[in-house]
Amino acid sequence: MAVPVSGLQVWLDDNARVLRLAGPLRSALALPAQAQGRLQDYVQPCSLLVLEGEPMDWQGQPLDLDFKAAGGTTLHTRGWLQQHAGQWLLQVFDVGDLLQHRQQSLIAERQRHLTSHLACAVRDCSIECLEAVAKEQLQWLARHWQASAVQVLLQGAEGWQTYVASGEIVHGIADSVLSPLLDHMAPGQVYSSAAHPDLHLLFAARPASFVPYASGLQVKAWLLCGGPGAPLVGAEALSIFGAYAEPLVSRLVAFELEQQSERLDSLQVQLRAGWWQWRLITPNLQLDPGLAQRLGVPAQLTLSQWLSRVHPADREAAQLALGQLQCEGRDLELTLRLLDNNLQANPRWYRLCGQVRGNGPQRRLQGLMLDISDSKAQQLQAAAAQARLENLIASSPAVIYIQRYSEGALYAEFFSASLQPMLGWETPQEGVLQPGQWVHPQDQSLWLERTRTLLREGQVRSRYRLRDRQGDYHWVLDEARLLRDDLGLPVEVVGIWLDVSEATEAAEKMRESEERYRVLVEDSPAMICRYTPSLELVFGNQPLADYLECSPAQLPGINLGQWMSQTQRVAFVERLASLTPEQPVSTAEICLQLPGREHAWWVWSDRGLFDEHGKLLEIQAVGRDNTQVRRTRQQLVQSAKMATLGEMATGLAHEINQPLNVMRMAVVNALKRLENGEAQVDYLQEKLTRIDAQVQRASRVVEHMRVFGRRSEVDQQLFAPWQAVEGALSLLADGLRGKGVDLRVDAPQELLQVSGHQDQLEQVLINLLVNARDALLARREGGLLEPWIALRLEQDERQVRLLVEDNGGGIDPRLLERIFEPFFTTKPVGVGTGLGLSVSYGIVDAMGGCLSVENAAEGARFCIELPVHSTS
Ligand code: ADP
Repeated sequence: MAVPVSGLQVWLDDNARVLRLAGPLRSALALPAQAQGRLQDYVQPCSLLVLEGEPMDWQGQPLDLDFKAAGGTTLHTRGWLQQHAGQWLLQVFDVGDLLQHRQQSLIAERQRHLTSHLACAVRDCSIECLEAVAKEQLQWLARHWQASAVQVLLQGAEGWQTYVASGEIVHGIADSVLSPLLDHMAPGQVYSSAAHPDLHLLFAARPASFVPYASGLQVKAWLLCGGPGAPLVGAEALSIFGAYAEPLVSRLVAFELEQQSERLDSLQVQLRAGWWQWRLITPNLQLDPGLAQRLGVPAQLTLSQWLSRVHPADREAAQLALGQLQCEGRDLELTLRLLDNNLQANPRWYRLCGQVRGNGPQRRLQGLMLDISDSKAQQLQAAAAQARLENLIASSPAVIYIQRYSEGALYAEFFSASLQPMLGWETPQEGVLQPGQWVHPQDQSLWLERTRTLLREGQVRSRYRLRDRQGDYHWVLDEARLLRDDLGLPVEVVGIWLDVSEATEAAEKMRESEERYRVLVEDSPAMICRYTPSLELVFGNQPLADYLECSPAQLPGINLGQWMSQTQRVAFVERLASLTPEQPVSTAEICLQLPGREHAWWVWSDRGLFDEHGKLLEIQAVGRDNTQVRRTRQQLVQSAKMATLGEMATGLAHEINQPLNVMRMAVVNALKRLENGEAQVDYLQEKLTRIDAQVQRASRVVEHMRVFGRRSEVDQQLFAPWQAVEGALSLLADGLRGKGVDLRVDAPQELLQVSGHQDQLEQVLINLLVNARDALLARREGGLLEPWIALRLEQDERQVRLLVEDNGGGIDPRLLERIFEPFFTTKPVGVGTGLGLSVSYGIVDAMGGCLSVENAAEGARFCIELPVHSTS
């Protein structure tokens, strides 16, 4: 058998002792120290398994043997054992290449599997789990590389930042320290901290490997790997980390983009904005879908379709601006109105912006549309409000001004346009004028004080005169306020001048007129005062003070009521209560008990002052002393009374004579009987009783006359008017009857009361009865008359009427109006005084009643009407 010349031939004996070596590979072997060694001494320990037993056992099967080669390397061989000339021949060939190849493809296969596993895990998980999955895969990778710690850094806002980590490599080295180093490291190779001087400084104690992942020329992620496995082998590490980082980075980028676009969308919606684009190679404009929906147009529309939505007033401007953008590339910025679907309702305002982007077929117009209707509406409202305000200021007699503050001084900066109509000055240019030069010379100190107060207290209100263009002065009311900045430092003064010339002049006139009235009031002979509803004086003039015996200054606080009787005061307050805003005036004669005087009678006119609810606040009063007049009148009444008494003297003589006669007769008869000795006790008793009755009758008459002749009480009393009728009759009845006059007296059932003086009313009735008697007697002289006088009383809730009628033929109608005049009489001189009816009229009037007369069927009928005193 031919011996091959390739490979390695080893001749062995039955005990596997090497007899001879041959073949080209022989030189590569590391020969054992002793010669004639066994085959086992030539091979690596791992091959010993194959060589168990004796050569006899090894034949007929392929043998893979790893020989120890020179330099400590291994020679991978495969061969067979066969018998050859009583020896064993081991023929092996070098299969190192083959093995290496297989090894490599195995590694490649494992790496493929690993990378696809990593890529799938990172790519397929949900975005929410991405970080957790990335960490899990990283841990797996660490185990694979037998690294103690791994860390992935991604490019963030502040440079390289750790995304996920397992174990800690950098020992507290912050991302911010690492980041600038990583920035300077190029992609495409794995860095070892041992080989890199900067990294070495940081990682001296624990070496680490830095594996980049790049897309294009830019590194997108770094893997830091530390521990026993480091440094990593370049290509494998790059590829495995690439498989991990590529989906991670792209997913994070996609997620970030998605979020960005979401934010943009929401921003567009919130701003009511949207993008638009026109690729010039297509006929259609493209709109942001949200915007298109809001406008109610398709997202793709032709230029003319879009222009048809632009308000006609803005259409040409929009067309021109788009043309300029398209042809000249001039940026577009336009405010326009867009009509909505039905083209009717209020158009909305949009801001349209645009730019040219790209070149060639990519050239396009791109921009933004922003709904500014709200701010436009506010702008229009503000403009309208400002116009209104300006108009108002311009047409009002007010000037608004601003003074700028600088180093303790104020400089005029602005005057509203109303300066011209108010003062005739043109609005001055900024800072050229000090309004102080318009101030009246006499008011300049006021002006300076105003500025000082303003700076000190922050606000001021003052009044001074300003000169206008014609040289005339205007009174202005100046209200100014100092505005300060955030630090409290003065910035400017805002003020307003109000032309108050008219008001000031009016106030001056008012003051003058008040002064005149004050003098009038002070010097008036009448009493003038003001007092509260509780009768307390607020003010009184000199005459009033004189009456009350004090000075005018002492008057306020004095109560008028203290000078009045209880009845007077009640009546006075009642009268005030009857004042109303509609009828605020009332006049009455009041009676006061003044210091050092008997009685004072004042004619007193009150005028009530009311608030808006009609409540009486104060009373102004004018009074005149009527005491003298009153006294005279009283004297008149008294003298009239006396006259009446005088007139009645005849009647009275009869009144007294009558009982005297009766008494004389009784006495004469009684004496006769006594003389004759016939005086019986009974008889004498009867006569004496009659005399007593007549004495009483006479004394009643005398007593009544005494009462009647007295002066009236000052205060009015309550009494039943019929009592006065009875009083008058007690004086006159007998006399009248004696003259043949028939007295027809009709006494009433119920007696209502009136207020006044009973004796005075009695006097009136006496006058009426005496007049009636005179008329009757005068008439009877001529013929057969049966004279009568009728007295009756009519009454209702409000008034009492006393009627005195006779059949004396009445009064000549021509004289009817005059009979109440004083001194009017138709009686002969020395008989009539002409005062009876005049005084009677005054008395009834003073009682608040009325005396009237008319001609009845047979004679005059006098009527005394009196108000019934109401108890309520
Ligand atoms: P005198 O009685 O003193 O004249 P009077 O004032 O009492 O004054 O009366 C004025 C006048 O009115 C009388 O003069 C008389 O002419 C007239 N007169 C008054 N009462 C009557 C009467 N009852 N009938 C007719 N005339 C009367």
